[in-house]
Amino acid sequence: MYDIIVIGAGPAGLTAAIYARRASKNVLVLEAKSYGGQIINTLDIENYPVEAHISGFDFATKLYNQTKELGAEIKFEKVVDINDKGQVKEVITTKNTYTSKTIIVATGSENRKLGIEKEDELIGKGISYCATCDGAFFRKKNVAVVGGGNTALEDALYLSDLVNKVYLIHRRDEFRGEESTVRRLKEKENIEFVYNSNVTKLNANERLESIEVTNKDGSTRTIEVDGLFVAVGRIPENENFAKLINLDSSGYIIANEDCKTNVAGIFVAGDNRTKEVRQLVTATSDGAIAATTAIKYINNN
Ligand code: NAP
Repeated sequence: MYDIIVIGAGPAGLTAAIYARRASKNVLVLEAKSYGGQIINTLDIENYPVEAHISGFDFATKLYNQTKELGAEIKFEKVVDINDKGQVKEVITTKNTYTSKTIIVATGSENRKLGIEKEDELIGKGISYCATCDGAFFRKKNVAVVGGGNTALEDALYLSDLVNKVYLIHRRDEFRGEESTVRRLKEKENIEFVYNSNVTKLNANERLESIEVTNKDGSTRTIEVDGLFVAVGRIPENENFAKLINLDSSGYIIANEDCKTNVAGIFVAGDNRTKEVRQLVTATSDGAIAATTAIKYINNN
């Protein structure tokens, strides 16, 4: 039986494992995809203390190696269910069933889709959710980015150095993302801001050829683009825990800064919990708090 099973190997989960190992607890980290979570797709992290610039890939790899070196076991298996048997918690993956004294849920979130016709069938044929992964395929072409948060802003900035023209489409006329990035975008000559607009139609002949954009005033416009980068936020990956753990109406696990869920011995860390600020630094902070709280719980029980 493990002391702590961490579900998710993103910044929150791996930091939790580091804190748990430093307290000599035996730890299993379970990850469905690859380590690093969403930060692995960030080209340049500029707002994490100490390192002025570090790529998301380097950050995640260093964190992963640090966690392994401290002796955490990391397995790439998808968790499909958890059970609470009081002092013992069960974690069921597609391959095995594990038992633990505590669980830290650090599953993060997945890309939100626009939910329009042809979106799924055009993934890889013009539609992308990751500018740093797929931007190079659109060198010297015209692309659009949809969204108004930091991801959309940073995607537009990154793409503007690669492609011919970027249309940045946002449903309001004010961005949610950082003002400093907006300022940098406005200095770029090959970015056109399309405000108060939604992407309402995808026109394709095998690959994406153009998008229809509808303004709040009802007018529509067709923009010829080879690529559309969708950056409209993320959805917490909590559906496998909903029968046991309380979620809010948007699907986030309800927890305060102590990272405790409604179930004794089950904790949450990172972007998938209710919180005001979802940043790399708050994810790692959650990891430390959740692990420390879990350690106290183990020692008291
Ligand atoms: P976000 O901050 O939730 O922004 C999502 C954006 O998409 C919003 O502007 C929203 O519009 C828009 N949107 C949502 N649903 C839409 C729809 N159906 N159609 C059109 N537009 C839609 O998401 P994010 O940009 O992915 O960022 C997630 C978190 O990671 C944030 O906390 C962000 O600050 C953080 N992040 C940080 C960094 C960094 O620190 N370097 C980099 C990337 C992300 P409204 O504004 O109108 O709601």
